[in-house]
This record gives sequence, C-alpha cells and structure tokens, in this order.
Amino acid sequence: MPIIKGAPVAEAISADTLKRAETLKADGIEPCLAIIRVGEDGSQLAYERGAVKRMDKCGIKCRICALDENISQADFVNEFKKINDDESVHGILLLQPLPKTLSIEPLKDIINPLKDVDAISPMNMYKILANDKTGHAPCTAEGVIEILDWMGMDLKGKKCKVIGRSMIVGKPLGLLLLSKDATVTYCHSKTRELAKETRDADVLIAAAGSAKLVGADFVNENMTVIDVGVNVDENGKLCGDVDFEAVEPLVANITPVPGGTGAVTTSVLAKHVVKAAELLRK
Ligand code: NAD
Repeated sequence: MPIIKGAPVAEAISADTLKRAETLKADGIEPCLAIIRVGEDGSQLAYERGAVKRMDKCGIKCRICALDENISQADFVNEFKKINDDESVHGILLLQPLPKTLSIEPLKDIINPLKDVDAISPMNMYKILANDKTGHAPCTAEGVIEILDWMGMDLKGKKCKVIGRSMIVGKPLGLLLLSKDATVTYCHSKTRELAKETRDADVLIAAAGSAKLVGADFVNENMTVIDVGVNVDENGKLCGDVDFEAVEPLVANITPVPGGTGAVTTSVLAKHVVKAAELLRK
C-alpha cells in the first residue's frame, strides 16, 4: 500500500521557506536559529547536525550554543536570557532532555513566545488550544499535519486516534487535528484494549515511543497510519511504534521509520524560524 515518505513533504516546505528567507534578507534581516545544547549527547548531536543542514538549505543562519554539562542552573538561565535578548536571534531551539541537574521550567516563562519555535512556552500551548495561528506548535506535531495536508487529506469529521499524550507530540497533535475538524481520541498507557480502540480509526498516529506497539490487530484497510516513534528494535535497528512489516500490507497509507515523520520535523523548524523573523519585524 502507498508508503508516504517524509522527504518530498520536507522539500516542499523547505522550498517555500527558502523563498520567505530570501525576502527577509532583501529587507536586511538574516533569519537566525540559536540551538542550545547542554553536554554532548549523541542523539542530540545527530539531531543538531540534521537541523543545521536543513537551516542551511532554507537560507537560515544557525548559531550553536554548546554549554558544559556541569553548568549551574543560575548560569544556564543567564546564558538563555542572553540568547533570548539577542535581537539577531529569531528562533531558539533547546535540545532535550537536559541533564538531571537542570530544570527547563523557568525558561518556559522567560522565552519570548515569538522566538519559541518548538513551543515550550505556555503562551504557545494556549495559542494551539485557541487555534491562534500567530503561535508556534511543536515541530513534530505540526509535521504530522503537514504530511496529512500534503496527502490532500480532508480531516473534517475523520476519526483520528493519537497514541501518546506528551506535551511535545501527542497532546498538541490532538489539538491541531481538532482544529481541522477531526473527531479526536487520545489513547495512552492507561487505555484499555488499545487495539480495539484504534481499529476503527480513519487516521492512526503512533507517538508512544514503544517499538512495534501497533500490530495487525490495530488497523483496517482504509486507514492512514502515521508513525512518529523512534525506537531501536531487538536487533539494534531503528524502528517506529508500528510493526511496519505486519501493518503495511493491511492499510491504505503508512509512513516508514526511518524516512517518514522525522524528515519533516526540521523543515517545520525552519518554517517557524522564518515565521518568527517575519513576526519580530512587525
Ligand atoms: P513520551 O515518553 O513523553 O510520551 C509517550 C506517550 O505514549 C505517553 O503519553 C504514554 O502514555 C504513551 N505510551 C507509552 N507507551 C504506551 C503503550 N504501550 N500503550 C499506549 N500508550 C503508550 O514520548 P514523546 O516525547 O511524546 O515521544 C514519543 C515518540 O516519538 C518517541 O519514540 C520519540 O522518540 C518520538 N519522537 C519523534 C520525533 C520525530 O521528529 N519523529 C520527535 C519527538 C519524539
């Protein structure tokens, strides 16, 4: 059944973002993303490399703020404030998770919501709730909507079931689907009879972080399955939350892992930086 890859969706978003970045540059504004990383975590470094590459493709400058993993909370907050106040920075991405000695909580209130391109601030969460398009949604959650839009899917009245209710993916994604007039169900670790719950969905989005959780008994032949999960299977291979081999022949559309939603996330990030630069200019 059709396999929906992330690359063409990412390319379409990036092409539009590059045009907007060029318009800003013609007005003397160079859109800039600051990436804040504490320590040298391998998966954060990999994500950072992908983000830098994508920003470059989209005509966006990237500034890496690498902080020592032993930095104190007070110094961390001070460094964050400096970046937040820097007028040449339009977007801020804080790589997570932070070391256990640091708390993200004070930063949620400090960050300028316009620069909050991955939506950690309460203001951006509120704007998702209120369907206010001047805010930013978390990039991964918005990336799922981009894929569905790219497919030309009209979500009005569709049964959309989201497995996962985190602040960064599941919860905001459900709200974004709701704003598209979908009928949304959140499933999570306490949901009873998960497979039975998801089986009648038109669109199933798996964002649980549980390798191959979604099996043949979770799906139907008309279903579109979007796999957000990034896990490592028993053989050390990257895999999603969906048992791709078992599910792919049984559904109408499915995104693979790798090569699915992950590719779209950094393009949405770039789009948000340009949007931030446009909003900050006004
Ligand atoms: P999280 O651990 O914060 O949240 C997971 C959610 O899934 C929880 O709400 C939990 O209730 C639910 N859940 C966990 N196991 C479950 C189970 N067996 N049955 C039903 N519900 C279950 O994770 P997160 O940060 O939301 O990330 C989810 C997944 O998405 C992870 O694999 C993560 O690596 C991936 N992710 C991908 C991207 C991307 O760009 N593709 C970005 C962020 C996160």
